[in-house]
This record gives sequence, structure tokens and C-alpha cells, in this order.
Amino acid sequence: MTIQYPSGRQFLQIPGPTNVPDRVLRAIARPTIDHRGPEFSRMIAEVLDGLKEIFKTSSHVVIFPSSGSGAWEASLVNTLSAGDKVLMFDIGHFSGLWGQVASKLGFDVHVAQDDWRRGVDPQVVEAELGKDRENQIKAVCVVHNETSTGVTTRVREIRKAMDRAGHPALLLVDTISSLGSIDFRHDEWGVDVTIGCSQKGLLLPPGLGFNAISEKALSASKSARFPKAYWDWAPILSQNANGFFPYTPATNLLYGLKESLQMLAEEGLGNVFARHRRHGEATRRAAEAWGLETVAVDPKEYSHSVTALYTPSGHSADAFRKAVLDHFNMPLGTGLGRLQDKIFRIGHLGDFNDLMLAGTLSGVEMGLDLAGVPHRKGGVAAALDYLATTAKGLATVSPL
Ligand code: PLP
Repeated sequence: MTIQYPSGRQFLQIPGPTNVPDRVLRAIARPTIDHRGPEFSRMIAEVLDGLKEIFKTSSHVVIFPSSGSGAWEASLVNTLSAGDKVLMFDIGHFSGLWGQVASKLGFDVHVAQDDWRRGVDPQVVEAELGKDRENQIKAVCVVHNETSTGVTTRVREIRKAMDRAGHPALLLVDTISSLGSIDFRHDEWGVDVTIGCSQKGLLLPPGLGFNAISEKALSASKSARFPKAYWDWAPILSQNANGFFPYTPATNLLYGLKESLQMLAEEGLGNVFARHRRHGEATRRAAEAWGLETVAVDPKEYSHSVTALYTPSGHSADAFRKAVLDHFNMPLGTGLGRLQDKIFRIGHLGDFNDLMLAGTLSGVEMGLDLAGVPHRKGGVAAALDYLATTAKGLATVSPL
């Protein structure tokens, strides 16, 4: 029998879009205002300042009414010229898709490293740039947190590798599933363009894309000759200076962004990162107790926002996910590309707390039983144990 109304809330445990908190939903529900009026202009000044805190930059951030893929495209077309060579890495589905975007635009994509269980290797970066004596590589494109594998690249180490090679290429970094969840520092780590979007750590529905832009990237954009119109930074930056946009912005999502930036500031970005770290660790403890293997193999590269787990060979990860969805109304992340049907992914990012994680892991453990996936008992107990022990040192929640 199919139940028409599934009572209780849905646990949306895909690694983005994430659960949108009520405060943000209420903010978005406000009536739309004139995007060329004084109230809007004041709001934009505030939002742009708040975004700089998130990217950890004192430079420029632009906002597009787009998904993350649009922000990828914007990073390339603003900084490069037709046919320029870019260095990319085959470390997961999204790294590959970004490479396809660059290829379709006609850039000369050089792909290094083919390993979906590790992050970008700083030594590979240094070696590739070292071979490029004529400085033909114009940009190194790295996905900070590969959402398809749950592997985080150490961007600071990539910057150091580029410096050791003494190469002038720009460093472009996708933080789509790390921004507002995992420590990231645009200025300090010498990133030239950081790509982000709204629907993951920033607690919003899909619909906003971001580029944080270093002075070096801004100056590259002035000589870059790739044709662009909608994605062009220049008119956005000039109109943003007065609080406006060159085209109709996503006004209501910007209300939501103002609210979510406020919420992240109230929690404190350091606490937000610590919360994600703790939930990542609790999830891995559950996985270890179940006897399920993470895709990530190097503990230094474990993602704090998403955990990707193999089902034992011969056991369909998709059938398992279907059982969890059908019985517990909980969507889990699917295996993408070469990992399809082999893995499932647990998103533990965004507006999330200990009991939500406990519910999520309970759904996984019951689903493993229902789908007949061989595992040991005790994953939820291991996670709860870790959460309870580590909760002692945390601030308590004060009633409103
Ligand atoms: N990059 C990463 C790391 C992602 O996880 C995603 C989507 O999940 C994208 C890029 C593409 O973003 P979008 O689907 O918003 O275009």
C-alpha cells in the first residue's frame, strides 16, 4: 500500500541542496521590492560585506542568479582568452564536469591525475607546472570538496606547490560543497577565483552563484579576451558599487542570503566548521562500526560535509537508497559517474544538528537491514557515543 501523506518531515540527506531553515524561508517569503530602490541598495551592501567574511577575502565577490555551474563558467570566461590551456584533475564527477564546461567553451583542457579516492596531489601540480616552461597553463582548476567522493583537497598545499614551481597561472577553486561548512581562506591561501553557490553550506535554496575575485584575477579579467555578456564581472562590479545589478537580480534569494549570513555569524564561522568536523567524524565512526568503507582513503582528506560509502560488492547501493527513501522518506546522495550503484552519500552539511545526524544514521542502519546489505550492528551506537562524549565541551543552546 502506498501512503499518500508521509507524516513528519523529510530528512533531505543529499549533499545539497540542504535543508533550508525556517528563518531563511520566512525571509524569502517577503514581498519583492524594487531592485533599483534605496532599500535594495542598502541590503546589497550588507550582503556583499557578509559574503566577504564567508570567503575570507577583503577583495571582490560577485553574485549571479545561477546554479554553481554558471559560477564555474563565469570564473573561466572572465579570466581567460579563447584556446588558453587550463590544468584540471580527474578526481571525481564534479571535477570532470568542470573540465567538460571548459572543453565545451573551447579551452585547451589538460587533465592530470586519475584517482577518485584522493584529492588533488600538490606534487602532481608542482610537476605539471614545472614541465610548462613557456607558461602556457593559464589556470589551475581545483575542486576543494569533491561532493561525489567525500574527498577534500588541501588547497593551501596546492598554493604552496604553485609557488614552489614559480608558475604564474591563476588558481581557481570550486568551494560549492565546502563554503560555509569547511575552513576555506580565499586571501590567505592565495586563491584567485573562488566559485560558490547558495544551496549547500549557505542554507539557501538553489539559485545563486558566486565568484570571489583576487586583484590578480581582476587584472587578468581586464586583458582576457573571451567573449562574455551575462557572466561579465565588469558591469556587475561597477553597478554593485552603488548597490545595484546590471540585470534583474534574484531579489528574494538575496533576502534569504542576508538572513543566512546573519545566522552563520550568530553561530560563529569557527563553530560552524567545528560542527561539520564533528558530524563528519561521527558519521565515519558509524561507517566503521557497520564495516562499510569510505571512498576517501586519506584521513587528511576526509570531507566534513559529505561521507561517501561503498556498499559491499554485489549489493546495489541504489536498491539500498530506494529502500531508505520508500520506508523512511529520506533521500540519500546517489553514486555519480563511475561510482553509480556502488556507493551512497550522506550529506551532513548546512542547517544540521546532532539529533538530525542521529536520525539520519538510524535511517541508514535500518535501511541496510531492509535492503539486506551485509553489515555489523552498532553504527548508530558508535556515533551517539562520540556525539555524547564530545557534546560536553560545547556551548549549550539558550532558549529564545
Ligand atoms: N561543483 C561541485 C563540487 C558540486 O557539488 C556541484 C553540484 O552539486 C557543482 C559543482 C555543480 O553545481 P550546480 O549543480 O549548482 O550547477
